Amino acid sequence: MAGMFLVSLAQWALGIFGIFGPSSDVRVGSDTSIRLPQNIKPLTYDLAVRTDLEAKRFWGAEAITIQANTETHKIKLHAGCNLDIDLMRVCDVDQQCWEVREHNYKRNCEARTLSIDTEDWHVFQPNDTFVLVFRWTSPISSGSDGYILSPDVGFPDTSFSAVTRFEPIEARAVFPSFDEPSPKSSWTITLIGRNETVNLANMEASSERGLYRNTEVSTLERLLVEEIDLNGSWKSTHFPSTPLMSINNVAWGNGRFNRIKSSYFSKIRNETISTAVYANLADLSGQNWTLEIMDRVTPLYESLFGVAFPLPKLYWLATPAFGGGIEHWGLITGGSDSSAWSEGQGAASKATVASFVAHEVAHQWFANLVTMSWWDDVWLNEAFATYASDGLIGPVIDEDFNTWKTYQDEHVEKSMTLDALTSHPIITPIEDEAQLSTAFDTITYDKGASVLRMIAEVVGENVFLRGVSTYLQKFAYSNAVGKDLWDQVSLHVNGLDVAEFADAWTKQAGFPVVQVAKLRSDTYRLIQARYLVKNTGISQANNQTWPIPLLMKMTPGHSAMLIMNQTSIELTLANTEQLVLNRGRRGYYRVQYDQIGFAWMREHFISRSSELSGVDRAAFLYDLTSFARSGRVPTVDVLDLQQYLTGETDVSVWNAAATFLLDLRSLFWEQPDAEQRALDQYVAGVVAETYADIGFAAQHNETARVGKIRQLILPLVGWVGIPSFVQESKKLAAALHNDTSSPHGVLDLPVTTIRVMLESAVRYGNETDWQLALTLWNKDRHGSLATAALRSLGQTQDPAIISKILEMLDDGTLVDGMIPHLYILLSLISNPTARRPTVDWALINLNKILRLADNLLRDTVLSGLFSSLSSQKDLDSLKQRFGDKPAWRGLLTVYDSIEVSVEWLARDKERIAKWLKQQAGAE
Ligand SMILES: [Zn+2]
Repeated sequence: MAGMFLVSLAQWALGIFGIFGPSSDVRVGSDTSIRLPQNIKPLTYDLAVRTDLEAKRFWGAEAITIQANTETHKIKLHAGCNLDIDLMRVCDVDQQCWEVREHNYKRNCEARTLSIDTEDWHVFQPNDTFVLVFRWTSPISSGSDGYILSPDVGFPDTSFSAVTRFEPIEARAVFPSFDEPSPKSSWTITLIGRNETVNLANMEASSERGLYRNTEVSTLERLLVEEIDLNGSWKSTHFPSTPLMSINNVAWGNGRFNRIKSSYFSKIRNETISTAVYANLADLSGQNWTLEIMDRVTPLYESLFGVAFPLPKLYWLATPAFGGGIEHWGLITGGSDSSAWSEGQGAASKATVASFVAHEVAHQWFANLVTMSWWDDVWLNEAFATYASDGLIGPVIDEDFNTWKTYQDEHVEKSMTLDALTSHPIITPIEDEAQLSTAFDTITYDKGASVLRMIAEVVGENVFLRGVSTYLQKFAYSNAVGKDLWDQVSLHVNGLDVAEFADAWTKQAGFPVVQVAKLRSDTYRLIQARYLVKNTGISQANNQTWPIPLLMKMTPGHSAMLIMNQTSIELTLANTEQLVLNRGRRGYYRVQYDQIGFAWMREHFISRSSELSGVDRAAFLYDLTSFARSGRVPTVDVLDLQQYLTGETDVSVWNAAATFLLDLRSLFWEQPDAEQRALDQYVAGVVAETYADIGFAAQHNETARVGKIRQLILPLVGWVGIPSFVQESKKLAAALHNDTSSPHGVLDLPVTTIRVMLESAVRYGNETDWQLALTLWNKDRHGSLATAALRSLGQTQDPAIISKILEMLDDGTLVDGMIPHLYILLSLISNPTARRPTVDWALINLNKILRLADNLLRDTVLSGLFSSLSSQKDLDSLKQRFGDKPAWRGLLTVYDSIEVSVEWLARDKERIAKWLKQQAGAE
C-alpha cells in the first residue's frame, strides 16, 4: 500500500541508513558475521584530517593506541578500499616502529577490512599496548554516508562544505578503525582546513592557528602538510581528547559555517554550557527555534535523568546534505530542512521540529553516554529517545503540542500496521549487513517506542525514571545491553519481573488482539490471540501469548491495571456500564468488543462523550479500520461511523480516518470509474466543512492541533479536488514558477502543504500545469521545493504525459540518483491512473532500479512499487518471478499486502459500492 511506502520513506528520512557492502569476518562461528575478532582493542585515537573542499578530497593521518587481549600477531581492523593508504606502521611503546610491507597485510574490499600480520617482527602478549600509524587520502563522498559533501546554500553550485556521518558503520569509509560501538575509545582530533572555513568537532576547539612555513607542527600535522605550500592559506584546529565514546558518535565538519549562539545553565554542574547552531548563512535563518529547544530540553533532561550532559558544549550543525538527524555527541548533525522553522509555517510544524530536536538531544544520554554493546540493542536507544522527546517532555515544552496524543498515530499505529503482517521481533540477531538494515526499521523505532512507553506505564513513570537514572550512572562512558536497563528498573519495582515482561514484547514477533465479551451484567470474558490482518495466515496453533496490561476504566474516575498472562480470563466488575480496555492506548494491542460493547463505543464515539478521551476514540477507530481490513467487521461500519466527523477536533481521530480513506482509495484503483467517483464524493462530504473552517494556510496564532488536522486533511481535499483548493493550488504553482528566491517559496507555507498543492495543481491541470511543475523541478534540483515539484509530476491524469515520464526515466533526463527515482516512482504509484503503466515499467527495469537502491533501500523500493497491487493475478505473477519464499524480506510484506487487498476486495467491494451509491442517492 502507498501508506506503507511512506512509512518506509519516513524511516529513510530519519537519516540513519548507510549503504553497506557485504562482509565476511568471523566472531561467533558464522562466516557472514560483520564483527571483528576480539584479540585487540582500541584505547585512544589521535586523528588528524586535512579537508580540501576545492579538490573535494581529504587527507588523514592517525595514531591508534591499541592493546592486545590475547597473545597475537594478527591485527584486523576496518578500512574501506576508497582509502588510499600510503603509510602503515606498527610501533611499540618505545616508539620503535615497523613498516608494514605489502606481504604483511591483506585488504578485503568487499568486507572493508584490513588484516596486518606482525609475525615477522613481533608477537604481542596480553595487555601489551602498541600504536598503529596510518596516512591515507580519499575523495570526499558525494553520497550520504562517511565524510560527505554538503552543498553550500546561497553559494554557487560548485561550493561545498563537508560533514561526517558514520552511523552505523561508515567510519571505515573515512579512516582505518575498529568500527564497532564497543569498546569505547578516547578521541583527539585535529582538523586542517582552508582559512576561510570553520572546523567543528565533538569537543570545543582548544587552539587554532594559521599554518606558515615556519609554523611548528605536530607529527600528524606534518604528515598532512608535507606536500602543500604553507603560506597562511591553511589553518589547523585542535580539539582536546574526549571522554570514552563510541566510534559512531564521532563527528566533525569543515565549511563556510556561520552560527547563532546561546547557552543553558546546568544545575548539576553549576555552570553555563554553550549551545549553538551552525549552518551556511542562507540556511541559518530558520534555525532559531532549534537553538531554543536545545536550550530548553537539555536542562530538562538533566533533571529528569539526574545526570548532567558531560561535554563542554552542545552544537547543532545543520546541513542540506541529508534529511533527519544524527545524534553525534556534542555535535548533532541534522538536515537543515528538518530543523528549519519560521512563523508562517504554523504551530504544527513547530511541534514537529521541537520533537525532532528533543529526540537528538535525548540521545546525548541514551546512545552516547551509554551506548548499546552491539547493534541488536539499537532499538533501545531509538525507543528511548522517542519516548523522551515525544512522551516525557513534549507536554512540558508546550501543552498544545499534544505529543502524548500523537504517540498513538506516529508510533503505535504506524508499527502495528506492519507488525500485523509477516513481521520480526524487535530484537533480532545482527550478524550480517542484511540484518543490520532491520536494526533501523519501523519495528525498531516505533514498536520499540510503543513497548518502552508501555513498560514505563506498567511500572509507573517515576519508578521507570529512577531506574533510568541509576542505569545511566552505572554504565556512563561504557556499553550496555537491554537487560542492564531492566535490572536497574527492577530494583525499584515490586512483584513484576521487568526483564521477563520486556522480553515477551521484544523477542516475539507480532502483538495480540483482546476480545471482550459481556457475559452477564457484571462479568466479562477476555480472550487474547495474535492479531494478523491476513486471514489465511492466522495460526492459533502456536498459542502465542503476551503479558497484557489491561489498563481498564471500571467506573468514571477509577482506573486499574491488571496484567493478563493467560489466553482467556473472566472478570467480574461491579457498577460498570461497559468495560473499556487499553485506555490511553498505552498497551501495544487491539481491542475488539462484542455487539453490546461495539454499540456502546459507537454511541460514545459519535457523541464525543466525556466517557472516552480523544485517544480512546481514535483507538476505537484505528482498531475498527484494521478490523475492516482483516474482515473482522464490515467496511461499511467504518464508512458509516466516519460520516460523523464533521466538527471533529481530535487530531488522532482525523489521523485514523485519513489513513483509512487513503488506503481505501488505493484499494479501489481498478474498480469502475463510477465507484471511484462515489468514493470521492463521500470523502468530500467528510472533509468539506472542516476544510472550509481551517483553509490551506496557517492562521495567525492557531494551535498545533489545528495545524496538524490541516496536514491530515489536505491530501484528501487535494485528492477529491475541492474547487477552491484546486484554484489556490494553481495560483501557488504559477507564483512559485515566477519566484523561488525565498528558501521556503513565495508563500511562507510548510513544504508539505506546498507539495500537496502542487500535486493538486497537476492532477486537476493540463499539460501546461505539468510543464510548470517540470520547470520548477529542473530549475533547482537541490532546492527545498525540488522534492515537492518532483512528486507532483506523477499526479497527472493524462496517459500521454505518464508515458512521457516513464520515457524520461528510461533515458535519464528526468532524475538521477536513487532518492529522486524513489520520489517520482512513489508519486506515480500513488496515482491510480499511472499505477499500472508504472508497475509494468518497473518490472522491466527492476534490475536497474534495485542496483540503484543497494541493500538498504531495497525493501523500501519493492514495497513501494508493488504493495498497492490488489489482484490475485498480480500476486501470482510476482510469485512466479520471485518465488514463494523470496530471499528479500520486503517481498514477503508485498505478498502479504496484496493478499490482504485481494481478500478485502472479494469480501467487501460490492457492499461498499452499494453503500456509497445509496449515500449518493440520499443526498
Ligand atoms: Zn534517534
